[in-house]
Amino acid sequence: MHEQTTISQSASVTPSSQVCSNNALHVGDIISASEVDKIPHIPEVSFMPRKNYSDDGGTLRLKPFASFIQQRNNTLLIQRQAAPATAPGSLFSANQKSRFRPTGNITRKEFDAYVMLNFGVVDVHTGTQQEQELRSTRRGIPPVTITGWQSWDPGSASGDYTSIIDGIENMASVMGAVPTITNITFFKVAYEPDATGAGIPDTSIGASFGAGNLTIFEAFSGSTNPAIGINTQQGAPIASPDRSRDVARTITHELGHGVAEAAMASQNNQTFVQFKAAVGWVGNPEVLYDIGQPAVRAAIANQTQLPSQHIITTSRWFDPTLNEQPVSRYAVDGGPSEDFAESIATFITNPSVLQQRSPARYNFIQSNIATWRTRMRPTMPARIRPPVGDFPIPSGDTRMA
Ligand SMILES: [Zn+2]
Repeated sequence: MHEQTTISQSASVTPSSQVCSNNALHVGDIISASEVDKIPHIPEVSFMPRKNYSDDGGTLRLKPFASFIQQRNNTLLIQRQAAPATAPGSLFSANQKSRFRPTGNITRKEFDAYVMLNFGVVDVHTGTQQEQELRSTRRGIPPVTITGWQSWDPGSASGDYTSIIDGIENMASVMGAVPTITNITFFKVAYEPDATGAGIPDTSIGASFGAGNLTIFEAFSGSTNPAIGINTQQGAPIASPDRSRDVARTITHELGHGVAEAAMASQNNQTFVQFKAAVGWVGNPEVLYDIGQPAVRAAIANQTQLPSQHIITTSRWFDPTLNEQPVSRYAVDGGPSEDFAESIATFITNPSVLQQRSPARYNFIQSNIATWRTRMRPTMPARIRPPVGDFPIPSGDTRMA
């Protein structure tokens, strides 16, 4: 799958070329009760694996999915009354019973219809200047004005629409659910206002997610350059750029913030308290320690002085001596919220890499996912269309015995 890899040199690692801005969750933020109320509660329903999806070639992938269901059902039996019985197979709405992932270029109309039908998205639109100015306005500064504003979306037909869908489908295929996505909006570039209310463009932001709103910018094909293996003396191995894979991962990362919203709603807002303790974020502002070091775990448990030689600074993310290795520079630089989203994205796209680099993160996700899913939208994995049509028949000199 992965093309040739490049090694990021210790001295010359470039900063992430793409970051996301997450409007709902900032480092250390606790969602207020009123925010939580905005997160729709997905009704409990019976959740039976359907016989007919063993034919999508996804048998292996469905194993963890099935075990989540089992865990979840066990939890339900213990913790609360079973939900009212529903007819077998009615969990996934009729249109979700079977679908093929799109491939190649698709039209905007096809994209809109697909995400609405299969992921419950209510609205997809290309943003306007007035809308972006309103959205960029912050408390305590004058209304935002943007000069030189331009409209953007991927066009009337594009392979990028397919890649966005892949980013969502990749999560559905691993988790059997996707977070609530209410709106998808396209803007050319993100703006942050200065003190006078003038919008300042930030071309490093590829997408953002907050309270069900997925916002996609032209820079969405950038990458946080996540590691694709464990660190070595040469640094962290990273993949060469690949537009469709990078767009899909940007979207999966954003949905990682959506998983955080579902997680907070399902765990009484304690998810980040637990995440930080599990993976080594300590203090306020948080400092990341190598939770793989017994001395760090002991100091946390005994509330004694933490050993400073085990602090993971941004410039150490690719250090081979770390026992627990963050998945990217951005996972450190962006604090616990971005670490969470980056870890989720790697759990989805490259689980064995997360397990090898960051066992504490992997185990945290694995052990909580069944609970988080209770506030996500159950979504059966899509089928992948098998190749059809004529296969070339060798002839003449090229014929093989
Ligand atoms: Zn993010």
